[in-house]
Amino acid sequence: MRPCPLCGQRDDLPSAAAGRARGGGGGDAPWVACRGCGLLLRDAPPGPFVDHCGEEYFAPTSAELLAHLRRRAAGRLQKVSRYRRGGRLLEVGCGAGEFLEACAAQGGWEVQGIEPSPAGAAPARARGLDVTCAPLEDVALPSAAFDVVVAWHVLEHLWDPLAALQQLGATLRADGMLFLEVPNASCLGARLFRQQWISMASPGHTVLFTARTLGALLARAGFRVFAWPDPTGADLVDARYTIAVSLRARVQATFPGLLGHGAGRPAGAIVPGPSLGRPWSAPLRLARRLAFRSATGMVFRAERSLGPRPVLCVTAARATARDAA
Ligand SMILES: [Zn+2]
Repeated sequence: MRPCPLCGQRDDLPSAAAGRARGGGGGDAPWVACRGCGLLLRDAPPGPFVDHCGEEYFAPTSAELLAHLRRRAAGRLQKVSRYRRGGRLLEVGCGAGEFLEACAAQGGWEVQGIEPSPAGAAPARARGLDVTCAPLEDVALPSAAFDVVVAWHVLEHLWDPLAALQQLGATLRADGMLFLEVPNASCLGARLFRQQWISMASPGHTVLFTARTLGALLARAGFRVFAWPDPTGADLVDARYTIAVSLRARVQATFPGLLGHGAGRPAGAIVPGPSLGRPWSAPLRLARRLAFRSATGMVFRAERSLGPRPVLCVTAARATARDAA
């Protein structure tokens, strides 16, 4: 097991094998809580998210999904606009660029993106956006260059989220602000379903946060948390959606095969499972695409009727000497 990226503890972390023996379902490796700080970790290989996602993830063709992504981007921009109305902005994990496009449309922003997947970076570039196609840790970011850095659902994919936050802190100007969204590991769905909770079952996730552990990690990386928008109520609203998806995963883990394709994994997860076939196998690719499309459609229908996924939304700024005092 890797050392804990929050507290550095390495000796007491339960082994992946021990977790597996307890019947961890969902993704490929079971989740364990660090005994030092409570951070939820698993030994998923670093950076597999891109491999798990097909082009469909970044190039949605359904009008419903596109409309959803644009609405989501507009909501996020509204959140940012409460604190900053323009300037130089970097989005880490920009995908096909819906958020950056929303910023450009609003005006007043000079935007740049980083996206590790060529499947996301290519359509973003086709939209005329300035996007670097590389993992964050491979990008040499200029120091004190950005007014705003956003990372929507990125941190939970990273092997070393502390190093990433430190890197982002260094590229922010002294009065720059960081906006994050990650799954909320203390939501009701997570408590009920544990290893089958939708965000634990997503194969690309390697670390999950509660408000307490994310706050501690931000502090350690030199940020002070400015605001935790939507601090109350969200869990209860979101729980219905999470329960619907996670319950299915729980049934699949208990009775493999009962619900068909994708045993042990929520059928509604927007992240498709590991590749079903060799790259040249066209029928398997087609089947995977159709399965992904129907799963995606199900998720967005559920999300519309039951509310959004439970997330922690954090706004942070670089800590100053006065904060430390
Ligand atoms: Zn720890």
